[in-house]
Amino acid sequence: MNSEFDLLIVGAGAGGIGAAHAAQKEGISYCVLEASHRVGGRGLTEALAPGIPWDLGCHWLHSGSINPLAAIADQHGIHYEKSDSSRAFYMKGSRLPEAQQQSFSNYMADQWQIVQQSAASGEDRALAELINYDSPWAPYYCYWQSLMTSDDVDQFSALDLVNYQDTDENWPIREGYGELLTRHAKGLTIELNTRAEKIDWSGNSVRVTTNRGTLQSKRVVVTVSTGVLGARDIEFTPELPLPTQEAITALPLGCYNNFAMLYDEPWPFDSDTPGRIDYSNGDDVNFAFKLKCSGWPYIYCAVAGRQARWLERQPIAESEHLMMSALVDIFGTDFKKKIVRFKASAWGDDPLVKGAYSASRPGQSHQRSILAQPIAEKLCLAGEAASEQAFCTAHGAWQSGRDAVSKLLNPVS
Ligand SMILES: Cc1cc2nc3c(=O)[nH]c(=O)nc-3n(C[C@H](O)[C@H](O)[C@H](O)COP(=O)(O)OP(=O)(O)OC[C@H]3O[C@@H](n4cnc5c(N)ncnc54)[C@H](O)[C@@H]3O)c2cc1C
Repeated sequence: MNSEFDLLIVGAGAGGIGAAHAAQKEGISYCVLEASHRVGGRGLTEALAPGIPWDLGCHWLHSGSINPLAAIADQHGIHYEKSDSSRAFYMKGSRLPEAQQQSFSNYMADQWQIVQQSAASGEDRALAELINYDSPWAPYYCYWQSLMTSDDVDQFSALDLVNYQDTDENWPIREGYGELLTRHAKGLTIELNTRAEKIDWSGNSVRVTTNRGTLQSKRVVVTVSTGVLGARDIEFTPELPLPTQEAITALPLGCYNNFAMLYDEPWPFDSDTPGRIDYSNGDDVNFAFKLKCSGWPYIYCAVAGRQARWLERQPIAESEHLMMSALVDIFGTDFKKKIVRFKASAWGDDPLVKGAYSASRPGQSHQRSILAQPIAEKLCLAGEAASEQAFCTAHGAWQSGRDAVSKLLNPVS
């Protein structure tokens, strides 16, 4: 390994890959240091069965029409669905009639308006404070919102939701988002199994000590999660500036896990079964199911916040029981026999991430821009948490990596 660079990049997730492409374009010498044996970070595609990919992490190209990774997917021959499946709400197993579906949609729209009004008046409150709990839709709303930020409604800022640039187009990637990131990383200079342990930015250049030796660079972009930064898994000398440390604390990772239930083909549902099902028992069991995820024979579901943390600590049979009970409620007992494999991710337990994605604490949504500020013109944090308008996403991380390179190469004096 070379030992002196114009730029070192720590982490080869979407943020690190974005930063590396920017460095390559600038023609500077760079190297990405990645602790694990693979690229992609929270983008990870595995085989659910031979020839059937599923994503343990990111899967949807959010805000599809303005998502820069859509064009990159096109370049790599990766497919994504632009149209969304039909959707229906099932309450305690019964599909709701149209009027009640409409009542649910109205509730969601009203809640969004309340959140926007709060943001417009300059408030930065916990979403929990803005919810109309006197509605039968409230439990499902809380579940759904926890998926947006990977934490519970009392834990995150409603203003952060408004800051997110959402076109309401979420395009699932057929071959997997992890696969897209892997293909996009081909040809970049990346050292795998290379863990940054210490970053010394006290001198003119920056020294990065890894498990494979020490490297020197004019600048460093660090794209590890706020979970890893908050756990102080990397020692900075001197310590990071106080505002940066506060930003890390204000933007912790929540928990969010994906679940896949593989079924025997042929398609086991009636032709009028919707592609997406919102399920609620009216209380604490709420799930969003996608029945034929990206055209593959598996049902997708996700869980976030405290429930995800709790389920991650239980045997996987607990998650399977919860989700299968809801599906049996909808489709009847025989349905159980059709499921041949049940898989779950476990991001809270991943030592190189330590959670899912960053949820801004109430009152703290301004911290994203502080996190992204270059330090002494030679160090810059990047990754999803440092994105001001596309946080919690892969494309936000990717863009933030690119922006970090640009800020370090073109400092504002
Ligand atoms: C279950 C789940 C579902 C999601 N769904 C979506 C979705 O549908 N669409 C979407 O856009 N986003 C989604 N996201 C969010 C998206 O995956 C992340 O925002 C994005 O991938 C984060 O990229 P990153 O580069 O910021 O961080 P990471 O992907 O965490 O990359 C950081 C890298 O740093 C490495 N690292 C850690 N410590 C060290 C060290 N000391 N030295 C060197 N390397 C180190 C890690 O191994 C990792 O590869 C989802 C996330 C999860 C968990």
